[in-house]
Amino acid sequence: MSDTDTDHEASGEEQSLRTPIVAVLGHVDHGKTSLLDRVRGSAVIEGEAGAITQHIGATAVPLETISEISGALVNPDDFDLPGLLFIDTPGHHSFSTLRARGGALADIAILVVDVNDGFQPQTLEAIDILKRTQTPFIVAANKVDTTPGWNPNENSPIQQSMEAQSDRAESRLNEALYEIIGQLSENDFSADMYWRVRDFQGNVGVVPVSAMTGEGVPDLLAVLMGLSQRYMKEAMAIDVTGPGAGTVLEVKDERGFGKTLDVVLYDGSVRTDDTIVVGGLNEPIVTQVRALLQPRPLAEIRTEKQFEKVPEVRAAAGVKIAAPDLDDAIAGAPVRVVRDQPVAEVVEEVQAELAGLEVETEEEGVVVKADTLGSLEAIADALAEAEVPVVRAEVGDVAPRDIAVASTANEPKHEVILAFNVDVLKDAERRANEQGVRLFESDVIYQLVEEYEEYVDEIERSQQ
Ligand code: GDP
Repeated sequence: MSDTDTDHEASGEEQSLRTPIVAVLGHVDHGKTSLLDRVRGSAVIEGEAGAITQHIGATAVPLETISEISGALVNPDDFDLPGLLFIDTPGHHSFSTLRARGGALADIAILVVDVNDGFQPQTLEAIDILKRTQTPFIVAANKVDTTPGWNPNENSPIQQSMEAQSDRAESRLNEALYEIIGQLSENDFSADMYWRVRDFQGNVGVVPVSAMTGEGVPDLLAVLMGLSQRYMKEAMAIDVTGPGAGTVLEVKDERGFGKTLDVVLYDGSVRTDDTIVVGGLNEPIVTQVRALLQPRPLAEIRTEKQFEKVPEVRAAAGVKIAAPDLDDAIAGAPVRVVRDQPVAEVVEEVQAELAGLEVETEEEGVVVKADTLGSLEAIADALAEAEVPVVRAEVGDVAPRDIAVASTANEPKHEVILAFNVDVLKDAERRANEQGVRLFESDVIYQLVEEYEEYVDEIERSQQ
């Protein structure tokens, strides 16, 4: 039995609902990483040994453990979901990279907002992405421990804000929470403060928390479970033993295995020796699974190898797949298991999915390079909105041939390369300097677009 099977064993029979996949988004420094760490930490403290399962790129927290953390807020008998699978890499960059057939890989999201800082550019960017992918989410109003008048160790953040409200007391926490609610409604979301789990009615729940002290985390998990149960039931009633479908998180060299894929599996299962089809740079790659690798349980990590081989993995799970011929595999691309279906048919499906991710290009425009298909698409969307044409959009580092394309543009404002989260090869940098091609680099989409727009303004002013 592999580690991942424990989720399904818990109820004593085959689960027909798979674990919801949860992503964490929000502005830089608002506490995404701390909140994930806190959830994992609480699970380790509250649960029995092995209460969480470390996956590749994700962490599974079973229902029993969530119920232990959340106490009376989560009665396991009310839920038929096995637990929650948290994607370990927070941020909307990884969120938009992790695509699934026809939508986002994550079923639900936590939007982290610093309660004292409110909505910031990346909060709005995240909301746009959540809207576009129609992903249900809750807001974690984080860092309540820093709000003036906050009483640690008294009542939970929610109780404190409820009491303040019923007393009509002036409370900085309540003010801040209402500000967030106002900002949500400006962005077309009706929001309700989350008072009691069973009364959670709004489209979006706002849960006050502190990733630092852990206060509010039980409530946050309870609301997440409620949201999953409510919105995701249909979507997650899948056959976790059917042919697997997943998304490539990363392509990595691994000693002894060569190029491997870190994959989040959102549907079905994958087994050793399965034939798989993976989205590649030029065309889909057809190969055979040599090994499925999972991290060793935390207690064993210090012994010899970091990974252990498992014979089968079922959705939802993060797994490392070792297989031949993975050199051209790309992050963000689909992975499909071939079982009882002609290979050619699956290849076609993968091709169609990749085509759906491709960016439309024009005869004249800027060159865009990005690290994954998802980010490429997100930048292309932002550029389309700003009415900036694109002549070439590709996954990969900035290479001399990109400079060659940019340098042949008819207008100076198109002699430009926008590079998102990729390296610029030495030769490319030299050629860009020689040929007067402007390079913009950033790992924040709105910054990239803003810097480019400022540059265009500059050019236009100098031409007047
Ligand atoms: P991220 O960039 O969104 O992943 O943010 P981090 O998790 O790295 O947090 C940014 C900073 O805020 C760090 O210094 C954290 O220690 C701090 N921080 C995060 N959550 C809290 C919180 O609930 N309370 C307080 N006081 N600080 C926090």
